[in-house]
Amino acid sequence: MSYTKPKFEEKYGNFIGGKFVAPKGGQYFENTSPTNNQLIAKYPRSQKEDVDMAIDAAWEAFVSWGKTSATERASVLNKIADKLEEKLEEFAAIETYDNGKPIRETVNADIPLAVDHFRYFAGVIRAEEGSATELNEHTVSLIIKEPLGVVAQIIPWNFPLLMFAWKVAPALAAGNCIVLKPAEQTPSSVTFFVEVMSEIIPAGVLNIVHGFGPEAGKPLASSSRVKKVAFTGETTTGQLIMQYASKNLNPVTMELGGKSPNIFFNSVMDHDDDFLDKCIEGAVLFAFNQGEVCTCPSRILVQEDIYEAFMERVIKRTKAITQGDPFDMNTQVGAQASNDQFEKILSYIKIGKEEGAEVLAGGEAYKASGEYEEGFYVQPTILKGHNKMRVFQEEIFGPVVSVCTFKDEKEALEIANDTLYGLGAGVWTRDAHQLYQIPRAIEAGRVWVNCYHDYPAHAPFGGYKKSGFGRENHLMMLGHYRQTKNMLISY
Ligand code: NAD
Repeated sequence: MSYTKPKFEEKYGNFIGGKFVAPKGGQYFENTSPTNNQLIAKYPRSQKEDVDMAIDAAWEAFVSWGKTSATERASVLNKIADKLEEKLEEFAAIETYDNGKPIRETVNADIPLAVDHFRYFAGVIRAEEGSATELNEHTVSLIIKEPLGVVAQIIPWNFPLLMFAWKVAPALAAGNCIVLKPAEQTPSSVTFFVEVMSEIIPAGVLNIVHGFGPEAGKPLASSSRVKKVAFTGETTTGQLIMQYASKNLNPVTMELGGKSPNIFFNSVMDHDDDFLDKCIEGAVLFAFNQGEVCTCPSRILVQEDIYEAFMERVIKRTKAITQGDPFDMNTQVGAQASNDQFEKILSYIKIGKEEGAEVLAGGEAYKASGEYEEGFYVQPTILKGHNKMRVFQEEIFGPVVSVCTFKDEKEALEIANDTLYGLGAGVWTRDAHQLYQIPRAIEAGRVWVNCYHDYPAHAPFGGYKKSGFGRENHLMMLGHYRQTKNMLISY
């Protein structure tokens, strides 16, 4: 199957009360594709008045949506999943063009994972049972779960539709209405979503307000009329959003940045070639899918006695990565999501060089050919240095990994945990003791062992330390979107 660039309208509105509406102030911003720097479409540059209009529409819809049964809501979520699956190729092409990631990722990961997420929460909400306890022969204790009401959600550009699904599916399953702001860099797939789902989701239940953080995101997160703020993005933005929400004593969940260690113990070299190949892929492919993944294994730690032999293979594999045309199914690394991101990544490579890091692979912008010449591409880059360097400590969010060595388990853990972040980590070993003890000692919310970058809907995901709090995925997610009422009834 070959994929082509999708077609777009000249401009789009916000999606409020079940229809597209122009921003009240009449202002739009231009969204361009990072694959070729061409204009995609214009989107509303929304302000507080647009946010207020969306919150009004959401409360109006909540009057009936908040009273729907779990069965009714599960039916809506299943229909969403079916429609997403039916249009998987279209969604994937839009995502690739808007975000820059290669089509093999959006077809095989982003969109199928979003489908699965809606199905999972459709199932979870139906499987729940009520609970009542008889305290004595005259009194019963009832525990009732109620939706919060209207919730605010703000998402980033790195997985536009998947982050959207992670936020929207549990909030809808729990019976809330939503006002969501997508990232200004990637508004397209969410817009297509509400367009094709408008016959499935009742008007006003899901509202989209486009625009920039300080103009549209801030009034949304600050509103006293939303009952919760769910945020995914940078740690510094998360700190601001907590301040806004605190004025209303609103609960927040924070899915923030990361600087994930990926640790390779010497036992990985003692085993069969298949396992070693899996390790090499784990060191390379998951780090270089543009590097724009919050759990990107951006710090590689290799036990010193296998460093030369192991890295020789890693470098060889890195240099064999196919890069360029994001619509070619063979492309492994596509474009960075924006010019700003491109510039930031190159500036970090420069910082790394100035700090004395040795460039083992890449280190430059990548020149794509033909119609992608003007796009924003960076070579998969490996820097060798030590964990105190800025390139080891700060989130670059690009195809740049920083490599260092360690002597033993103790030093591996010291380096792994020597970071402000605590989102993801990888451990590669054939040693049974390390297989359990090392992940237990790592300060991170998700540790993959002998694998990397699986995101099943039933596995809780979230951060320690400055990577945030609260969890995404798993049925515990429903707890973030509901109130618990206890009724003690005496009769
Ligand atoms: P960002 O913080 O710049 O923006 C995220 C969203 O917040 C955007 O919609 C933006 O418009 C909005 N925003 C910005 N300033 C705001 C303000 N003052 N008030 C309200 N809203 C505001 O993040 P980004 O650059 O879009 O995304 C990359 C970051 O997201 C990385 O740090 C990455 O690690 C993180 N991320 C984390 C997870 C996770 O699950 N932990 C997942 C994906 C991405």
